[in-house]
Amino acid sequence: MRKFSEQGGGELREAYCNCCGRKLNVRNGILEEGCVGIETPFGYFSRRDGQVHRFDLCEDCYDKWTAAFRIPVEIEEKTELL
Ligand SMILES: [Zn+2]
Repeated sequence: MRKFSEQGGGELREAYCNCCGRKLNVRNGILEEGCVGIETPFGYFSRRDGQVHRFDLCEDCYDKWTAAFRIPVEIEEKTELL
């Protein structure tokens, strides 16, 4: 979950892992640790038609979540980080 200085945008003020609730390190509007931000719109054929779900996970919770996958996450090494 991310909180911004203005509703609907502005500078990032706070970020929390939705899974464990831990407050993530944010300084000067920048998230200074690994965080997985998920935002997914559900469409017509889903059970949540019209909803957009949004959450953030810290790296520890991401690791626990993906460790339960039957098919591993695809990993690609990037030489240039964004
Ligand atoms: Zn977490």
